[in-house]
This record gives sequence, structure tokens and C-alpha cells, in this order.
Amino acid sequence: MSTNLTPAGWNHLYSGKVRDLFEPASPATDVAGAGDAMLLVASDRVSAYDYVLSPGIPGKGEVLTRLSLWWFDKLGVPNHLVASHAEGERGHAALPPEIAERAMLVKKLDMFPVEAVVRGYLTGSGWKEYEQNGTVCDIPLPSGLQNGDRLPEPLYTPAWKAPLGEHDENISFERTVELIGEEDAAAIRDLALSIYAKAASTAESRGLILADTKFEFGRDPETGEIALADEVLTPDSSRYWDANAWTSGETPEQRMASFDKQIVRNWLTENWNMTGTPPELPPEIIERTANRYRELLERVTGN
Ligand code: ATP
Ligand code: MG
Repeated sequence: MSTNLTPAGWNHLYSGKVRDLFEPASPATDVAGAGDAMLLVASDRVSAYDYVLSPGIPGKGEVLTRLSLWWFDKLGVPNHLVASHAEGERGHAALPPEIAERAMLVKKLDMFPVEAVVRGYLTGSGWKEYEQNGTVCDIPLPSGLQNGDRLPEPLYTPAWKAPLGEHDENISFERTVELIGEEDAAAIRDLALSIYAKAASTAESRGLILADTKFEFGRDPETGEIALADEVLTPDSSRYWDANAWTSGETPEQRMASFDKQIVRNWLTENWNMTGTPPELPPEIIERTANRYRELLERVTGN
């Protein structure tokens, strides 16, 4: 899971399943005036069911970064971005050229251990729970909903961000209050719901449904301000569906024509029994997935 390239002048800090984090090699280096800055680099790695698969999806890291940057600009909410290649010279000067297009220079925040999940549609683990209990994350819902249906209103269903290697755990809003205090818990919930509403309506104008998404927030240690961090509204953190397919599709699979790694998940469940090492993804699956990520970028940003 380690990275294959550590840019000159940076130290490797952490690698998640998809992203690699670096900090300036010399603490005295004030990177573009950022104070405590980090380099957040999206790789082409793809994970499904918590397994990192091989090979990667060409261009995926760049798509994730471009989408995050586009949304940060659009949302008008305080965020962790310090510099990116999209800003021309100043951005380029701050980023190692070999990874400029997949990287963001960000301010290091004190992250809240809460993943702010918002669901506008019934699907995935939410659908499974609803089928069994009529609830999503213990929130009761009206009966008679189908897989892929729009929820009566968007639900905030936070999760506790588990330490590396453990699974994130769904928690109640009350539990987030115990973890981070009433004021911050409410602030994060309200921000998540309002960002979701804005993003869902932007997506709708592009013929897309934003079925659900996850945000991460942190506190700026210098100003005390709460800011949006991590990646935002990417196909790794969100489910995007084609709105036309949803309207006209008859089966849940047709309705939830998705712009993410569903192609990979489907291939994996058909070709692997989930024990041992996952098989290599075949070229046609890689290519279809790469096209799907690129198509989403074009649909959202218009280029
Ligand atoms: P995985 O996605 O593999 O389950 P992960 O979410 O920990 O694990 P990544 O998403 O690949 O790993 O890496 C990004 C990490 O950087 C996350 O832990 C995220 O919380 C953290 N992060 C994002 N933005 C900031 C920031 N501005 N300050 C501090 N940490 C951040
Ligand atoms: Mg993550």
C-alpha cells in the first residue's frame, strides 16, 4: 500500500487505500505560506469491499483531484485547499511537477473522527437495513420504498472514523455529540446537509443524481474555523447515477446506472469468492471503469 514515488522535498506520512499523504521534509519550509501543510495525492488505486485491487485505473487519481477542486471552488464553504495546479504559476510552484495534476496542497487540520454521510436515496447498506428493519441507520422510514428510491428527505447518517485497518462504524447523531460536543456535532451535520442540497441540485442540472455522499471536516488549528477537508463529491466518496436511466429504468440495476466502481464490484462478486487474494482485474473492466470516471468528470464540470 506504500507509495511508489515520494516527491523530492517531501516525507511520506501515511497511505490510505487510495491516497498518499506527504509532509514537507524540512519543518522550516513554509510551503506557499501554508503554515502546517500537507500534500494529498490521489493514486490510481481502486478498492472494493476494503480490498485494494490490481492493477489501478489509469487516470483515476487525476479525476478524483479535478472533481474535488471543481467542487471546492463551487461550494463556497471554508475548505483545506492551499494550492493546486489549477491556479497557474503559484500552484505549480507549490506542487511537485510529476504529480501536480493528482495532488492538492492542503492545510493540516485537526480532523473530527466523524464521517459526515448524507443519503438522498435508498441504496447499498441502507437498502439492506431497510429491507430487514424498515430503518436506515436506525432512523425509521415509511414502508413500501424500493431499492433506489428517493428518500422523503435527505438523511444525515454519521459514521465513526475507525483507526487504520478497522471498519468505520455507523453511529447516531447523539453519539457524535458525545464524541465531539454538541456545538461541533450540530455544525458538521448542518454543513453536511446544506452542502449535499447544493451539490445535489448542481448534479441535477447536469442530468445526474447524487444518491449519497460522505464529507470529512476538521478544525483549522490557527483560526479555530471548521473547514471541509479530504476529497469532496468524488465517485469514491459519493454515488452518482444517471438521471435518465433512473427515470426510465425498470430494474434497480437499470435505475442506479452509476458512475463509480460498480463495474469493478460486479466483476469481483462474479469472479471471486472473497477469500485469499483478489484476482487481477481484466483489461476490459479497467478500461470501462476508466471511461466511466472520465465521463463523470466531463458531465459534472462540463469539460
Ligand atoms: P481509506 O480511505 O483507505 O479507508 P483513509 O480514509 O484513512 O483510509 P485516504 O482517504 O486514502 O485514507 O487518505 C486520506 C486521509 O487524510 C484520511 O485519513 C483523511 O481523514 C486525512 N485528511 C484529509 N484531509 C486532511 C487535512 N486537511 N488535515 C488532516 N488530515 C486530512
Ligand atoms: Mg478516505
